Amino acid sequence: MNVEVLVELKAQSLDKTFTYSVPVSLKDKVKIGKRVLVPFGKQKLEGFIMDINNKKCEYEIKDIIDVVDEEVILNNEMISIGKYISSKTLASLMSSYSTMLPKALKASHKTNINKKYISYLKINRNIDNIKTDKQKEIVSLFKEDVLLKSEVAKVSQSAMNTLIKNGVLEEVKEETYRYNIKTNYEDKKISLTDEQANAFNTIKKSLNKFEPFLIHGVTGSGKTEVYMHLIKEVIDNNKSAIVLVPEISLTTQLVNIFKARFGNIAVLHSGLSDGERYDEYRKIASGEVNIVVGARSAIFAPFKNIGIIIIDEEHSDTYKQENNPRYNAIDIAIYRSKYHKCPLVLGSATPSIESYTRALLGTYTLINMPTRVNKNLPKVYLVDMKDEIKKGNRIFSELLTTKLNEVIKDNKQAIILLNRRGFNTIMSCKSCGYVAKCPKCDIPLTYHKVSNTLRCHYCGYGEAKLVKCPKCGSLDINSLGMGTQKLEEEILKNFEGAKVIRMDVDTTSRKGAHESIIEAFRKGEYNILIGTQMISKGLDFPNVTLVGVINGDASLNIPDFRSAEKTFDLLNQVSGRAGRSKSLGNVVIQGFNINHYSIVAASKCDYKGFYNEEVNIRKRLGYPPYNNLCLIKISSSSYDTVSKEANKVANYLKENIPNVLGPSVSSIPKINNIYYMQILIKYKKSDILYEHLKYIKNVYINNKNVKVEIDINPLRI
Ligand code: ADP
Ligand code: ZN
Ligand code: ZN
Repeated sequence: MNVEVLVELKAQSLDKTFTYSVPVSLKDKVKIGKRVLVPFGKQKLEGFIMDINNKKCEYEIKDIIDVVDEEVILNNEMISIGKYISSKTLASLMSSYSTMLPKALKASHKTNINKKYISYLKINRNIDNIKTDKQKEIVSLFKEDVLLKSEVAKVSQSAMNTLIKNGVLEEVKEETYRYNIKTNYEDKKISLTDEQANAFNTIKKSLNKFEPFLIHGVTGSGKTEVYMHLIKEVIDNNKSAIVLVPEISLTTQLVNIFKARFGNIAVLHSGLSDGERYDEYRKIASGEVNIVVGARSAIFAPFKNIGIIIIDEEHSDTYKQENNPRYNAIDIAIYRSKYHKCPLVLGSATPSIESYTRALLGTYTLINMPTRVNKNLPKVYLVDMKDEIKKGNRIFSELLTTKLNEVIKDNKQAIILLNRRGFNTIMSCKSCGYVAKCPKCDIPLTYHKVSNTLRCHYCGYGEAKLVKCPKCGSLDINSLGMGTQKLEEEILKNFEGAKVIRMDVDTTSRKGAHESIIEAFRKGEYNILIGTQMISKGLDFPNVTLVGVINGDASLNIPDFRSAEKTFDLLNQVSGRAGRSKSLGNVVIQGFNINHYSIVAASKCDYKGFYNEEVNIRKRLGYPPYNNLCLIKISSSSYDTVSKEANKVANYLKENIPNVLGPSVSSIPKINNIYYMQILIKYKKSDILYEHLKYIKNVYINNKNVKVEIDINPLRI
C-alpha cells in the first residue's frame, strides 16, 4: 500500500505529492485527508494524504513515519475546495489548505496547541480500602459520584493518588473548550415587517437548492432578523448555517444576539487565540454546534451538511484575503453552496458594483428592502468646509457644533468618524519645509501623542517626536493634519459634558478591546464614540441620534478606480448608524469636495443613482464589472532590479495578450525598504492569461532578489 503525500517545501511553492509506502502497523490508520509524518531528505515533514493506491513504483520509496491524528483533517469537500482555491488564485495547494485550517491542524509539525481537558474523579463505593483520616475526608467529600479533581487534590494530593491507585477513585477526563462568551442580551420576540417577511419567504422557497440571493436592504431595514428566521428553518431541518461578518467588532454584537436566540454557537475570527480557534473549529467539525458566526476564514467551517450561507455587508473589502492565497470568501461561499445545494444570501445596504450588476443580470436573485423598520431614514446635511474656514471653524462646523451640543444636553449619543488614526498626520519644519518621513517607506510619519512618537502606518517604524529640524536645526516645528487622537482631544476641549471613547487600531490591539469599547458605549458610559472606518459598519446603538463625519471626502483622493465607491459606502454605512430606534437621526458630513456624485448620492441614500453614474464610468474605462482585473506586483530591495524585471514581465505579457498596462510605480512605491512596481491586466476570459501567469510565476519562484505576486481581481490597485 502506497500513499501520495502533499508536503510543504519552504523554498518553493511546488505542488507535488510524494509517494511513500505504509508499514503494516499503520495500515488501518491511513485515510485520505489525514496528516502524516514523513521522511524528506534529512528532515521529517508533516503532510496530507491526497491519495492511496497500490501502484508499483520503479524507484525505492520510504515508509511514512507516523499518522498524526485519529481523525481525518481534510474531508473530500475540503480537498476539493483547496484545489479550487489554488486554481483560482494560482497559490500553492498547501498554502490553500493551510489557510483553511486552524494553526493546530496545519501540516507544520511544530504546534504545541493541544486539546484542553478537565479532570474528574469518580468514586467506586464497593471498595472499602480506605485507611487514613485524609482518605476518609476525601471520600466524605463525594456527595455525588463525581467531583472535580482539583477540588479533591486540595484535601491531600498523596491521599488522592493512593485512592486512585487502589481503585477507589477513577480519573475521567473530559474535553473542554477555552472560548466562552457569556451574554446578557435578551432575545426580543419580533414579528417580521412585510418587507422582511417577503425576503424570508422568497429565500425559504429555495432552502433545498443552490440559489444565490442579494438582499439590497437600507441600513436599519432589519436584515439580521431575516437571517435569523432563515437560520431557524435551517437548524430545524438538522442542517447548519455559516454567517460571515466583515469585522471582529461586528462579530461581538452578532454573537450576542445569536447566543440569546440560539444558545450554543461557534465563533471564528482572528481575535481568538490559537487554542480557542482550535476548540471552536472542533465544535463545528464534531457537529456539536450548527451555527458559526465569524469573519472571512469562517467560510471554511467544516460543517458536513450546510443549509445556508449568509454573508452580511457583502461589499466589504475584508472578505478578500490580502496575502497568499488571495481568495475571496464570496467565491468560496458560491462553491460551497453549490456543493451542499443550499442558498447563499449576500446582504448589504451598499452592494458592490459587481454584485449589484450580477443581480441586475439575474445571476443573483435580487431582493429589495428599501424601508427602515422604524420608517425614518436619518436627515443628512453636507457642510462645505471652505465656507466654515472663512468663518474660523477649522475642525467643527457651526452645524456639527450645535448638533453635538444638543446630543450632550439631551443625554443621547453621537458617533464621529475620522478615517485617520494618530494625532497629527504631518510634522514639518517651518523654516526649511523639512517633513519627517519614514526612512524605509518615504511617506510622512504620523505623530502619536499617547506614546509621544512618530510612527509609520505602513511598516510600523517609530522614532522620537521631532523637536529640532535635522536639516536646518530650527526649533520651529509645525504639526499639521488631524487623526483620531487629536480629534478626541479637540472634542474634550470644545464640548462641555462630552465623554469620549475612541475606537481605532491603536485602542483595539489588546485582546477583547473591541468588545469592551462597544459594551461601554452601549451602556451609556460615554456619549461620543469616535473612530476610523472600523466604526462605520453594522453597529446598532439605539441611542445614537447623531453621526458626524470629519473630512468625508478624504477617501476620494486615494488613487484607485474604486475610490468613489469606497466613499459612497463609507458615508452611507456610517450615516446608517444614526436614528435607529424611535428618535430621528441626523448626519453631518463635512468636507472640501462635497459636490462629488458619490457624496451627494450618499447624502440622499440613493444607491441606484450612485450605481448608474459609477457603472457608466466603469464602462468607459473598461474596469470591473466590464472586465476582470489582474494585478502583478513586482518587488525588490533594489530599485534597478525591480524596474528591469517589471519591464521584462510586462514585455513578455504584451507580446502574448492584449490590455496589459504598465509597468508603473505602485501607489506606495516603497514599504519597509522594498520597492514596488505593478502591471495591470484587463481581461474577459482567463484561460490563456492563466497559462502565461503560471509561466511567469515559475520563472520567479526561486528568485531571491525579485518577488512576483499575482492578485486576481484585486480590491485595491
Ligand atoms: P440592518 O442590518 O438591516 O442594518 P438590523 O438588522 O440591525 O438592520 O435592524 C435594525 C433594528 O431594528 C434592530 O435594532 C432590530 O432589533 C430592529 N428590528 C428588526 N426587525 C424588527 C421588527 N420586525 N420589528 C421591530 N424591530 C425590528
Ligand atoms: Zn528645517
Ligand atoms: Zn515605514
